[in-house]
Amino acid sequence: MRIVLVGPPGAGKGTQAQFIASHLSIPKISTGDIFRANVSGGTELGRQAKQFMDRGDLVPDEVTIAMVRDRLAEDDARDGFLLDGFPRNVPQAETLKKILSSDFDARLDIVLELVVDEDEVVRRLSGRRTCERCGRIWHVDFDDKRDDVCDDCGGHLFQRDDDKEDVVRHRLEVYQEQTAPLVQFYADEGILKGIDATGPVEEVTKRALDELRPLER
Ligand code: ADP
Ligand code: AMP
Repeated sequence: MRIVLVGPPGAGKGTQAQFIASHLSIPKISTGDIFRANVSGGTELGRQAKQFMDRGDLVPDEVTIAMVRDRLAEDDARDGFLLDGFPRNVPQAETLKKILSSDFDARLDIVLELVVDEDEVVRRLSGRRTCERCGRIWHVDFDDKRDDVCDDCGGHLFQRDDDKEDVVRHRLEVYQEQTAPLVQFYADEGILKGIDATGPVEEVTKRALDELRPLER
């Protein structure tokens, strides 16, 4: 199955992506994770992306699209994938459609929109912690993670630089201006499903899987 998750920063895309992708045995492809790995690895791609990420702006389309095209060409993505954080604007969505059609003779099956209000998103982002070893996402309050240690693997938890208050505010503006129009784009394509992304993580996962079940072969 070929799935895209959309929703504002902090909606829970990464959190849900890890469960949904594992349930369906498809790779989770997070452009934010790939950029962050390149920044920490000191690669040329990381160098190009960092200045935009630090400000909370989108990395230019040509850089992002080339990266996604390469990732989609890997073997594990041939029969399905879950995209988290891509596409992030209408030109990226149009290019994705062309790549899937020309390189794979395929199309997206479904786009899940995680619907949550802005106050909740700010609460979620201000307490977000990520495991530097396994990538698992936690929340200081909701998961009671005072010790900065990952319960899954024992790795150290860190706070993302772009989760600071002023950058968060800018990322939310970027979402409204550039990413929110994707909701209409995919509604017009007839593949958009909105799900209520409030409440416990497991309930949101259940709502997502309920939408995906009719598409499972
Ligand atoms: P996104 O990938 O959309 O930016 P994340 O998955 O990283 O969002 O989630 C942002 C923060 O919100 C994390 O700290 C995560 O633990 C927390 N979170 C995710 N889903 C929920 C939920 N249903 N209820 C409470 N907190 C959540
Ligand atoms: P995320 O982890 O999805 O919150 O993304 C973190 C940052 O990576 C964003 O604020 C952007 O700077 C960059 N980024 C991630 N995905 C994209 C994308 N599809 N297009 C442009 N920039 C992106």
